[in-house]
Amino acid sequence: MMNGSYKIGRIFGIPILIHYSFLLVIPLLAWIIGIQIALTTNTIQYIFQVPIDASLITAGFMPWILGIIVALGLFLGVLVHEIAHCIVARHKGVKIQSITLLMFGGVSQMEEEVPDPKVELPMALVGPLTSLLFGFVCASLVYLVPGMTTDPAIAGVLIFIFGYLAVLNIILFAFNLIPAFPMDGGRVLRAALAQRMPIHKATRIAANIGKGFAILFGIIGLLFFNPFLILIALFVYIGASSEAAMDQFTYLLHNVTAGSTMSSPVTSVTPNLAVSKVTEMMLATKHLGFPVVEHDKLVGMITLVDVNRISQTDREAKQVRDIMTRDPITLPPSAPVMDALRIMSARNIGRIPIVKDGRVIGIVTRSDILKMAELKKDPPQ
Ligand SMILES: [Zn+2]
Repeated sequence: MMNGSYKIGRIFGIPILIHYSFLLVIPLLAWIIGIQIALTTNTIQYIFQVPIDASLITAGFMPWILGIIVALGLFLGVLVHEIAHCIVARHKGVKIQSITLLMFGGVSQMEEEVPDPKVELPMALVGPLTSLLFGFVCASLVYLVPGMTTDPAIAGVLIFIFGYLAVLNIILFAFNLIPAFPMDGGRVLRAALAQRMPIHKATRIAANIGKGFAILFGIIGLLFFNPFLILIALFVYIGASSEAAMDQFTYLLHNVTAGSTMSSPVTSVTPNLAVSKVTEMMLATKHLGFPVVEHDKLVGMITLVDVNRISQTDREAKQVRDIMTRDPITLPPSAPVMDALRIMSARNIGRIPIVKDGRVIGIVTRSDILKMAELKKDPPQ
């Protein structure tokens, strides 16, 4: 789901990914701050009612350096916001697979079905509230600067940074309260609507409102020629659409099991098979992954990605066991097929073996799920 993301580290054992769109923000923000430095300084001076000595702020490359510092500060603010979501989620027993930092916020990838509204409400609210708190902390720092340094030019730089970050985090708070997907407010709205209607209907309403806001932002952005607002519009629209697509699947596949969607019988391979033989099998069968089975027991999965990781000569020398993924995720045939789709999205995998009484009885792939959704949408007459 979140393609185009790089892993930058782990916090509390949760992988933190960064999306391209977030990398775009750092030079963009640095540029915007750089060209508007005098105006922004005046605005911050006005908002906080503190005099700012701008001599160092406007000197040489300082506008661009400050731009990068503020952008990195925003990154920290978004990270803290997402971690707050994760701490509450974990406290409520919801497993978080990863955090992806996007342009104007993050996405905490949950492995589970749509959570219970009682869980979703505090989980959604804690993010914006953390941004508000972070904003207030930055705002208080603005007033503590005179006690930190006696140099007025350095004090000016510090007030600029803290003031800017205070404003950005409070905007992040307000933006996320918009009651529409993909903002946190969309989750709050869905939790409220879900008290009265099925969850997929609630999701659709929140996603449609999100699209409405995106179009509104886009129009305003075009009217005032504000590239930042156009980017936000795009981000909101894509987020709302992907939420709506997932909702469509949830609706179509709500009582479909993994067992009825899987392909079987399965072509499996043994751990001692040469990798080159697996390549031949992939070309012959057009399957991009095989379960690895030893003495009737599933011991791993081997996919095209694993094979492509090693060189042509290694494929002759190595066996399946050397490069396979051990302890793959499996599902019982009775599991809802939506669980399979969610796990595939969260872990970025293409297939899940279906296991019954310790034996692989089938395999469910993304394309199997798409075909099943097509059949449910237009059942054969
Ligand atoms: Zn959030």
